[in-house]
Amino acid sequence: MRRFIGNVNLSSLEVSFTPEVSHHIKVVRLQRGEVIEVLCNGLAFTYKVEENYPLRLSFVSQNTKMARELDFKSVLLCPLLKKDNFEFCLQKSVELGVSDIYPFLSSRVIKRVSKGEFESKRDRFEKIIAEAVEQSNRDIVPILHELTEYKDVIKTEGDYKFIAYEEEAIKGQKLGFVPKREARILSLFGPEGGFSDSEVYLAVKEGFTCVSLGKRILRAETAMVNMLSVIDFIGE
Ligand code: SAH
Repeated sequence: MRRFIGNVNLSSLEVSFTPEVSHHIKVVRLQRGEVIEVLCNGLAFTYKVEENYPLRLSFVSQNTKMARELDFKSVLLCPLLKKDNFEFCLQKSVELGVSDIYPFLSSRVIKRVSKGEFESKRDRFEKIIAEAVEQSNRDIVPILHELTEYKDVIKTEGDYKFIAYEEEAIKGQKLGFVPKREARILSLFGPEGGFSDSEVYLAVKEGFTCVSLGKRILRAETAMVNMLSVIDFIGE
């Protein structure tokens, strides 16, 4: 079943789509009689295609069970990486089940941008997220929060807080835990240049546990995939 992100009016059950999604719907050529799923604010609705051009849908049912979501919240604290790598992190973290992404600037971020510059790209970032939601059959659209500074992002609330730290690779404390249902699990990893000692110290002070992602030094975006995969695997 094809899935699209839309806006469902909960009383009339009418659906509207953004121009981008409408265009996408046109391109995929829905068939008359086909049943599609519309995702709206964490809920999934099914509709039958009565007419495909102009699009006319009739409501079939509402599915409240979010079967594809994790039992807990996987929250990513993501440094601003060089353009393509940041967008890669957005796409892959959505596939790996995150509920929230908090972008941040730390001392060794290579390309610093202002909050305003970041916001000017929000539409593009949200489009990447929306496409990944559809592609991976997610039931919710993860939230991309505002760009913050490192000292603020480490104050994000969480029940389990992990910081991937390559120095920990020597001591070898691996990422592993038994999550409580509904818990918020934070994954924090560093930019291309890694973390400074004082940044790691500050995170530990805020209750983060340093974890190793293995003996080799991974590129930042690989570290992100590795970290979220472990959490996704634990949550399945
Ligand atoms: N410090 C290095 C590499 C940074 S790698 C340098 O000087 O260039 C970028 C980020 O990936 C790190 O900040 C860390 O969060 C994560 N990372 C990479 N390899 C890791 C490993 N083996 N264990 C834990 N974290 C790792």
